[in-house]
Amino acid sequence: MLRDWRTELNRFLILMAVAGVIGLIADRLTLFFLIAVLGYLAHTFYELFRLHSWLDTLPESDQDEPPEAKGIWGNVFDGIYRLQRREREAVNHLKSILNKAQESSAALEMAVIMINRKGNLEWWNKAAEKLLGFRSEQDQQQAVTNLLREPRFFEYFEGGKYSEPLQIPSPLNKKIILEFQITLFGEGERLMLVRDVTQMHKLELMRKDFVGNVSHELRTPITVINGYLETLLDNRDSVAPRWVKPLEQMYQQSQRMESIVRDLLTLSRLETKALPKQQDNVDINSLLREIRTEAEQVFATKQHTILVECDGSHHLQGSMSELYSAISNLLFNAAKYTPDHGEIRVSATLVENGLDIEVADNGVGIEEQHLPRLTERFYRVDESRSTDTGGTGLGLAIVKHVLARHGARLEIRSEIGKGSRFICHFPKERLLRAAPEQTVRASA
Ligand code: ADP
Repeated sequence: MLRDWRTELNRFLILMAVAGVIGLIADRLTLFFLIAVLGYLAHTFYELFRLHSWLDTLPESDQDEPPEAKGIWGNVFDGIYRLQRREREAVNHLKSILNKAQESSAALEMAVIMINRKGNLEWWNKAAEKLLGFRSEQDQQQAVTNLLREPRFFEYFEGGKYSEPLQIPSPLNKKIILEFQITLFGEGERLMLVRDVTQMHKLELMRKDFVGNVSHELRTPITVINGYLETLLDNRDSVAPRWVKPLEQMYQQSQRMESIVRDLLTLSRLETKALPKQQDNVDINSLLREIRTEAEQVFATKQHTILVECDGSHHLQGSMSELYSAISNLLFNAAKYTPDHGEIRVSATLVENGLDIEVADNGVGIEEQHLPRLTERFYRVDESRSTDTGGTGLGLAIVKHVLARHGARLEIRSEIGKGSRFICHFPKERLLRAAPEQTVRASA
């Protein structure tokens, strides 16, 4: 670079020297210097003009070779040309990556939709046109909630809680079930993935029906077997002594089977039937006291101290029988998994975003690794311990379903050897003012 400047400077000095010599001969030194400087300036302006015109035509012209120039100007032209070529290559590379990404997402069976921060459609693939009926020209920049008008979608989209996917019928064909999953990215932009889950949905319905039907069909035979075993044991004097123990074991197991079938039927009902529109105004204080009385009777031999603490009179909108079943499951578990003379606290506390109902015990506790899986069907921490206590492994699954139907969630905290806390967080929308004439009491 330094060499180029030196050549340019030499050229200027030679020009000035020639002007000086001619000026001396003609006795017009100043005039010839002035002519030389003006000439140099004119040349500089001319090259600047050529550079400007070339830069001006660059965006449109394919022919982007720089104009021929000598000296420092030639270097400037070449430098800009090199920069411009490098930039063009980078843009082409990015374009090809973008094209590949678009081509591969176009080939997907799953609809991919990009939504800007205003909630308008930005880009979507071919599958989105097939599954949701988006039209490439007209729907660009349309609000997605204008195109997908199902209220559940609106609630899901605007709610912003995207940890769970949403399943709703397709806007084009009600027999097709679509699953929507939204992910936030960038500055408030959303990526929405939609897939056809009709087949899975059908299989899931079949599974639910199957479990429901099998449980229903098993109920009668188990009741009959139970009845006969009970009668035989009631008349154990007339039974050969060596049969008494086997009969007692058969009776114990058939009772367990009865509990499993009962819990499976409850779960199947919770899964297949929506909460009735007409719901109860449930008086929580009386519900908790009623469940405590039942637990005290069932677990009388364990002599637990069961305390009920409510920081006011609380009423929830929901299904009285379902809430009874959920909280009694938690309290019975606490009683089962706490050694004799334990202390169990059942409380209802008003919190900022709703009502917390908590069942806390000072029993055996649960190791942390089991906590995320406790609400799965038939999941047991310790098989032998649960069978000893007559558990079915379905209690917490029922609790989870009941809470979900009431917009609530279950939080479990536990420390091995110290005890467990099961907290049901009910949203404030479920809270009701006490309305004594409509209130359903637990004893009702
Ligand atoms: P089960 O009918 O076996 O009690 P659940 O679904 O009610 O089934 O509970 C699942 C498992 O969670 C139980 O087997 C038990 O190991 C554990 N568990 C539930 N509640 C408690 C508790 N209060 N203390 C200790 N362990 C518990």
